[in-house]
Amino acid sequence: MERVRFAPSPTGHLHIGGARTALFNYLYARHTGGKFIVRIEDTDLNRSTVESERVIIEGLRWLGINWDEGIEVGGEHGPYRSTERVGIYNPYVQKLLDEGKAYLCYCSEEELEREREEALKRGEMPRYSGKCRHLTPEQKEAYEKEGRKPVVRFKVPDDELIVVDDIVRGRVEFHSKDIGDFIIVKSDGIPVYNFAVTIDDHLMEITTVIRGEEHLSNTPRQILIYKALGFDVPRFAHVSLILGKDRTKMSKRHGSTWVEQYRDAGYLPEAIVNYLALLGWSPEGEEEIFSLEELIEKFDLNRVVKNPAVFDLDKLNHINGIYIRKSPIERIVDLAIPHLVNSGYITEEFAKENREWITKVVETVRDGLPFVGDIVNHVHIFFGDEVKIENDETHEVLKQEHVLNLLEEFENMVKEAESIDLNFAQNVFKELKNRTGAKGKALFMPIRVALTGQMHGPELVNIIDILGKDKILKRLEYVKN
Ligand code: GLU
Repeated sequence: MERVRFAPSPTGHLHIGGARTALFNYLYARHTGGKFIVRIEDTDLNRSTVESERVIIEGLRWLGINWDEGIEVGGEHGPYRSTERVGIYNPYVQKLLDEGKAYLCYCSEEELEREREEALKRGEMPRYSGKCRHLTPEQKEAYEKEGRKPVVRFKVPDDELIVVDDIVRGRVEFHSKDIGDFIIVKSDGIPVYNFAVTIDDHLMEITTVIRGEEHLSNTPRQILIYKALGFDVPRFAHVSLILGKDRTKMSKRHGSTWVEQYRDAGYLPEAIVNYLALLGWSPEGEEEIFSLEELIEKFDLNRVVKNPAVFDLDKLNHINGIYIRKSPIERIVDLAIPHLVNSGYITEEFAKENREWITKVVETVRDGLPFVGDIVNHVHIFFGDEVKIENDETHEVLKQEHVLNLLEEFENMVKEAESIDLNFAQNVFKELKNRTGAKGKALFMPIRVALTGQMHGPELVNIIDILGKDKILKRLEYVKN
């Protein structure tokens, strides 16, 4: 059975790239009937925070990516947080030390820095010299007396070809002579990522490691550890980076990079999942809209491409717009209300008492929304008693000869009407045409401009229905003066 994992370091937000890695793991596990594990890699004590762990987990849950084993849900291979597994790593460290495959190193930061600088001066790639490989017990004792705390280094074989048969990247070769003896346990006794990840993946019986390309250079080190401990090496799939449109690594400059930013802006999780799945992978055919179930059915690691994926916000917006239009209106209303409240259009109390009215507003503008939060840019026409005429051209519309009469007739009809609703709005133009002789654009445009101040916008009948008698009369009054 396939067992895969997502192993975030809790040092920040759930990045779009991390979410895509999690999703690929999830889809692969579900597609193959395997298990998906989420493990927290908090070996970097300085940068790991509880808050970040919470944000990452919340992000995964929001996306609908659930896991079978791991943090919060538990399982047979726990605990699922590296810092709680130190006791589990120690015997393996000891084994490597006992077998002479690792050794204690007492070099200080300054000494190492000097070595690095000298190597660079000679035009060589800096790597650890192996100086502490052959310390005598007396030398060790002397260092200990100085109060130096050792790290544990892995003894890298001198001449070994290390091959990664990567599912995405194909055959990638590394040579051990390019890798210096690397640290596996820091002086504070905490194993480094490369060591912890290897032990964890082994003990958690991970069969396929799917992760970001940035970890490819770690893979030969991990393979050396697997071999030194006599473990089976899992399969690897290193998924390419996500680039911005200018083909540089995706960063803040390219827009929001965290899942929570998209959530807060009013993107729907199904749309994000749909879009992320297509970043570096595509099924056969032209179709681009897939439910999670469809993605699970179609996902194939062998169709993940090696080229970097380019993050295209327009495409995400397009997909998100489709999901917004497909969603039950109530859901969009729920998402829209906080945006309307935050931007000061309504209060929470108003929202509670006028849900039906808000629903009409949302229904009227939702077709054009790339994300729900964008609603605040489309609803100003529904609020207030005054009308802000957009520009000179719009002013001209109202200056036409027939307009005063047209607006007066319209005003009369609004006054005469018992109530203003969709039915009234649908019939009023026929009657106005009869009374004034105006038709087509000459009929509609002045009314639109008088009510909204602009020559474009949602359906006029919806606008009339939403504004209601009181606001329409006040606006007409305002425009006439
Ligand atoms: N903890 C690593 C990270 O957050 C992931 C390592 C891995 O998947 O092996 O980037």
